Amino acid sequence: MSLVTPTAVGGPALAQERRLVTAIPGPRSRGLAERQGRAVARGVSTTMPVFAAAAGGGVVVDVDGNSLIDLGSGIAVTTVGNSAPRVVEAVTAQAAAFTHTCFMITPYEGYVAVAEQLNALTPGDHAKRTALFNSGAEAVENAVKIARAYTGKDAVVAFDHAYHGRTNLTMALTAKNQPYKSGFGPFAPEVYRAPLSYPYRDGLTGAEAARRAISTIETQVGAENLAALVIEPIQGEGGFIVPAEGFLPALVQWCHANDVVFIADEVQSGIARTGAMYASEHEGIVPDLVVTAKGVADGLPLSAVTGRAEIMDAAGPGGLGGTYGGNPLAVAAALATLETIRQDGLLDRAREIGALLLGRLRDLQARDARVGDVRGRGAMIAVELVDPVTAQPDAALAKAVAGAAHAAGVIVLTCGTYGNVLRFLPPLSISDGLLTEALDVLDDVFEEIK
Ligand SMILES: *Cc1c(COP(=O)(O)O)cnc(C)c1O
Repeated sequence: MSLVTPTAVGGPALAQERRLVTAIPGPRSRGLAERQGRAVARGVSTTMPVFAAAAGGGVVVDVDGNSLIDLGSGIAVTTVGNSAPRVVEAVTAQAAAFTHTCFMITPYEGYVAVAEQLNALTPGDHAKRTALFNSGAEAVENAVKIARAYTGKDAVVAFDHAYHGRTNLTMALTAKNQPYKSGFGPFAPEVYRAPLSYPYRDGLTGAEAARRAISTIETQVGAENLAALVIEPIQGEGGFIVPAEGFLPALVQWCHANDVVFIADEVQSGIARTGAMYASEHEGIVPDLVVTAKGVADGLPLSAVTGRAEIMDAAGPGGLGGTYGGNPLAVAAALATLETIRQDGLLDRAREIGALLLGRLRDLQARDARVGDVRGRGAMIAVELVDPVTAQPDAALAKAVAGAAHAAGVIVLTCGTYGNVLRFLPPLSISDGLLTEALDVLDDVFEEIK
């Protein structure tokens, strides 16, 4: 069977334009989707049945030659742009040198260099150590292992609306039943849930929401049993919920007073996405352990746990690792990604993109009462869609808007416990022109769907 070969090269050489030459999806994508249906498990579903041929800058080009504006970055992964030049060069050179030795057999410098950089980039100037893994879920699991080894305690608290992955322990940590958990139990024990700060829906100050969460934890779990609290500083899949100011610092303080490890899951919010290297910085918190993944290696599978040396080193030799963790190609990509963020000023660019998105989406909110809330930081922005009268979540509207945007050549993702949030995660390599065009398309879609 012949492969459908890419029709263009990726990276910034790709024409930066929205261009529709067929209906979405086009005939070649439809053909591939049919093959997918026969060959791939249906549990692995897709947002758009459009097959990629090339991507770069701010566009994804499909196998039919359509060029789509990318507001998703493959879920906050290609933050520095798909096939970013430094990444392509570094990965190509590494592939020619060696592809794998296993860091646990004969180590290599790239792994150590990534650890050094993450130790320097994560919040806090204390002594740190890093361990590398493959996926976000795997890193979250390891953070919990490390916290348990350090504290000698078992329990873990996660929050309402949390998303931490799809493996057994991270399914237990994840809040949402459908589609992530239903039918997949039994789940890992000793996982408890606390209420989040959700300013749009609970109206609480950060201090009030923290008191509520701490009260739940103290009465239902007990600090003497609790190894770790795991939280996304800005929630990803749960709806881009930014907790009220003061919520995160109060939780950190409580953890420190109670010998509980504070784990920041920055898998989606980290690595320049929010205009800071880590979203924790916006509130000046210093987590004990930070989990990094998605944006760190421009699409090559890499994740990390970074944290206080004494906590990280509580796991004994051989207790952490894995065949592929910190694979040579992935660490080469990560070093090039971090270099690109520095050289291209991408922290500033994320803040500019945030200002542009927030400005346009607040204008939309002023015209359209179905936009209940506009929130987020940097290039991690969302709108929550609601019934204008009752503020009940309107998932049907989110689905309709996303579908119409897809048909018009704009890749936009939904999220949220209630499925009523549109989230915007453009690559930081997108131009203002493309971003503005995508927002124009969205304005039109909101006009059309009344
Ligand atoms: C995506 C995500 C994960 C899981 O990462 P995988 O690489 O898909 O395992 C964990 N936590 C957060 C906050 C995420 O966004």
